[in-house]
Parts: sequence; C-alpha cells; structure tokens
Amino acid sequence: MENSKYDIIIGLEIHVQSKTLSKMFCSCATNYFEKEPNTHVCPTCLGLPGALPVPNKRAIELCILLGLATQCDIDNEIHFDRKHYFYPDLPKGYQISQYKRPICSDGYIDIKDEDGKKYTIGIERIHQEEDVAKSTHHTESSTGQKYSLIDYNKSGVPLIEIVSKPNIRSAYQAKEYANRIRQIVRYLRISDADMEKGQMRCEPNISIQEKGKWEYKDNGIAPIGDYKLNTKVEVKNIGSISAVEKSIKYEIERIINTIEKGENIIQQTRGWNADKGITEFQRSKETADDYRYMPDPDIPIIEIAQKDIERISKEIVELPNEKIERYQKEYDLSDYDCTVLTADREISNYFEDIVSLLTEGKDIQKAAKLASNWVTGAVFSIANDKKIDINEKNFPKEDLIELIKRFEDGTLTRNKAEELLRRSIDKGNPLPKLIKNAINEAQKSATNLGDIVNQVIKENEKAVSDYKSGKQTTIGYLIGQVMQKTKGTADPNEAKSVLIEKLNG
Ligand SMILES: [Zn+2]
Repeated sequence: MENSKYDIIIGLEIHVQSKTLSKMFCSCATNYFEKEPNTHVCPTCLGLPGALPVPNKRAIELCILLGLATQCDIDNEIHFDRKHYFYPDLPKGYQISQYKRPICSDGYIDIKDEDGKKYTIGIERIHQEEDVAKSTHHTESSTGQKYSLIDYNKSGVPLIEIVSKPNIRSAYQAKEYANRIRQIVRYLRISDADMEKGQMRCEPNISIQEKGKWEYKDNGIAPIGDYKLNTKVEVKNIGSISAVEKSIKYEIERIINTIEKGENIIQQTRGWNADKGITEFQRSKETADDYRYMPDPDIPIIEIAQKDIERISKEIVELPNEKIERYQKEYDLSDYDCTVLTADREISNYFEDIVSLLTEGKDIQKAAKLASNWVTGAVFSIANDKKIDINEKNFPKEDLIELIKRFEDGTLTRNKAEELLRRSIDKGNPLPKLIKNAINEAQKSATNLGDIVNQVIKENEKAVSDYKSGKQTTIGYLIGQVMQKTKGTADPNEAKSVLIEKLNG
C-alpha cells in the first residue's frame, strides 16, 4: 500500500454532539434517542418563519473547553454564520455555523505513532454549529414505491466540528487521532461520543501527491514548480473508528491505482460501505463558495472575556496522555496496563481509588500492581461479559478491597476469589457475605476432613504401620480411602497433607 513514489496527505473533520440538556438555539430537550419522531421540536428547530435562535451558553462553553484542552487560541468574539444549502433535513434552507471566525483555532494534540514515537497533529479550527434532522429511506412492501421520512428531533442539537490540519500521513495516524479526540471529549464530558448513536462522525479527506513536488503552505498544501496537485477525495459520515482506518486504506489504494493508470482524480464525496468494505461514489463535491456564507443577522456577536475563559479552564482534568506518564512514573505499570486503565475517565478514577485504598501500610507500586491485576483482569472480564460499567455501583470498592486482601493473605485462592466476584454480580448477592460464607465452608470442610482422616487411620492399622515402618507408598492407598469416604469431594493434596500431619504427629 505505501508507495515510495507518493506521499499520503490526510485531513480529518470530526463532528461531535455536545452533551447539553437543550438544543443549540432553542429550549427543546436533546434526549431524543429512541423517542417518538418529531416530539422534540419547536418553531425554531423546525425552521418556521419568524422563529428566532437564542444561542446555548453551555454549548459555547463546551466548545471553548475543547479548544483549551487542545491548545487552541480562543477568539474573544463569537460570530455565527449561515451556511446555505437545500436538503429536506435542513428546513430553514441554511445551517447556523461559523465561517471566517471559528471559536477555536490553531491547536494540536499528540498521538502515539505506529513506531511508538510521539507524533503531533495540528488542529486548524474547532467551531460550533447545529445538527440537522434525520432522514430515513423506505420502500413500500406491497407496491415497491419508495418514500422518505424525516425526524426533526435531531435538528438543532449542538454540534462541534473539529478540523485537523492536513498533517496526518497514514491511516493509522488518522485512527489514533480520532481515538484521542473521542477520549478527550469523553474525559471532559463535552460529549458521550457514542458513535453507534451518531454522536460522533468522521470525515477524512485524502490526497496522494508525488514525493518532493509539494509543500505545506497556509494550513494546506501547495505545488512546487509546475507540478499539478492531485485533487483530494472526501469520505463522508464514518460511524466507527475502525472504519476511519479501513476507508482511508481503501482510498489510498484506489487513488494510487487511478493515478498509475494515468487517469484524473475528480473532486468527489464518497461514502463508506461497511458491509462490502469499500468506498462508493456519492457526488462531486461543492466548493465552499456554493454555500453563500453570510453572518447570521438574528444572532448578535457574543463577547468572551478572559475571566470566562479562566472559569471554563477549571473544567480541564488530567487527560489520558498525562495520566499514562504519571502511571508509568508513580506506579511503574506496563505500557499496556497504563493505556487500558486510562482509556476511560470513570475507569481510571475507579482504579486510582482502589490503589489508594490498598496502599495503606504498603509500597504504592506494589499496591498499584495488585490493583491493576484485579481491575484489568477479573473486573474487566466480568464487566465485559455482563456488558456493565466499571463503577462503585456495580463493583463496590470496599468489597473488592476485602476480596483482594483475602486473596493476598492466602484465605482464598485467585480462582475462588474471582468466582465469588462473578457470583456476586450474577446473583446480586453482596460480596462480603459470599466471602464470609466461603471462609466458613472452607473451615467446616477442613474439620470434616480431619475427622475422616482419623477414621481412616483407625480402620487401616496395617497400612498405617507399613507407612510408619518406612513404606511410604502406602500413603496413596490411605488417600484413596479418604477420597472414598468423602465421595471424591475432598482435595487429594489437602487429604495427603492432613494424613502426613496426623501420621507423623
Ligand atoms: Zn426546538
């Protein structure tokens, strides 16, 4: 796929729905998921004449927060513009967006490249806009007639668009970048970014240029000498991170084949067909001018003061990259453990609480290793099987600590401890009760075993005296007798050690 003759140049546009209670320019509730169509609507988000938009303050704060977390410059004025186009999912005939002055510009994030080294990807802009409605296309089963339905519940939901600089150079980098953006918006509770619910969508644009014949210039690329740049191709509305990587790989190969055949690349928008694993032609692309951008006369310019930015910046928490570095230094954990434990803010908080509860009177690195073993092991596996979140409600921390301590002091084997944890979640039984029962049972069966061994010794005088006179192999016979009396329920190793103890005692 990589071709020594060509350079791969990728830019990525990502849309995320902000986690606000109401829509971007009206007070309709945003919790429309799985609700009856067209129940979360009003004159504003239906685009009825005369309805006026009122910007959502929280949505703007979240957009600024994302800009601060990605080292962007924040504009001191907020300007909204109208982006005109006709489509049934856009009833006003224009989308309220931002054109010349995005709220945030010129930032960056760091990712880990395929070779494990740090790679910085530039962010050209982050701006605020509104989502459009949802159309679904159907066919009448009796007549074969086609028709479309529109649900305006999604119309007007706050949408943040993040536009990268075109310095993404491989499908792998694009995937990592999208991953990192998703992590940041989730960590900062800007968006749930659930891609299956359409809360995050990715649109890569890809171009292939001959090596040494182009350069970066003004947030874009420019030809060197009389070289003619190949046109870029855009892939629309990708709904999963893995599809970002796959669709880009597919396009790189397709474009290089087209160039090698001596054909022209036409500027176009393509769609990702996940079932077939290919991209498909959708339409030739409009240029920015087609949208007839103009300032929205209904929305005044909003001033952002330095004190607003300072207040919003207090919402920034330690992000995964910083956490990974700290976990490595403070806890001495492996790369893998650090990565999985920091992937989600809730999980990393949970893990850190377990570490501090275990640390009492113990080396912090030892406590962290123990906590990491249990969280990434049993807890992850149960959460995964049961499709439940890792939190205090599902895995009470004090209970887990109790379990880990009983494992550490040898009262419970690892298998037994994991079994109890799983059972407590399967049956909803409190874990401390299960632990107590398990310890009682173990003690009871130990006493029983002692009685049975005494009985076996009494009933097998010959074998016992043989053993005592040095014929050690008779122990096997005696173990067999114990197993018979317990109907095979005793642990043979335990039976052996109790026997030896009593015979030698
Ligand atoms: Zn509304």
